[in-house]
Amino acid sequence: AMRQLPYFCRGEVVKGFGRGSKELGIPTANFSEQVVDSFPSDIPTGIYYGWACVGNGDVHKMVLSIGWNPFYKNTKKSVETHIIHTFKEDFYGEILSIVITGYIRPEKNFDSLDALISAIQEDIEEAKRQLDLPEHLKLKEDNFFHLPEGKIVNNR
Ligand code: ADP
Ligand code: MG
Repeated sequence: AMRQLPYFCRGEVVKGFGRGSKELGIPTANFSEQVVDSFPSDIPTGIYYGWACVGNGDVHKMVLSIGWNPFYKNTKKSVETHIIHTFKEDFYGEILSIVITGYIRPEKNFDSLDALISAIQEDIEEAKRQLDLPEHLKLKEDNFFHLPEGKIVNNR
């Protein structure tokens, strides 16, 4: 897993499967099937962290889940980014740029919704701490986020 990080990726935000992430207070911006297919097929499912930017907006901390997509009977992956920032409006159709810098944990099943939510809150706290470390912080300033047609080393 780690040898592929940092992983740069850019693509359109599409409608997800409406699993109600937003209702839980943890909206996740889903990438299109095309973008997901461009990911290395051997990248492990699980929870990651990194930096994200919508359109030409500011760069924010994020947590990301790479999971199995129920829509395709778990034969394809889904990639969902929760940006650690409060947005005034939804941004479906906009271009989301991310760099994945680290891995937190594998996917897990939870006994209750409360257990799921508290695990995600812990993931968010872990991401915030990790991203303040110099080796991760430096990627916030990467040209990838400032030049729309700039360096895309991984997915294009
Ligand atoms: P869907 O099933 O369509 O992905 P979600 O409940 O996961 O629905 O909500 C995701 C949408 O919420 C994103 O596509 C985006 O437009 C919006 N959104 C608002 N704030 C955020 C945020 N902080 N992080 C990610 N998405 C956000
Ligand atoms: Mg979502």
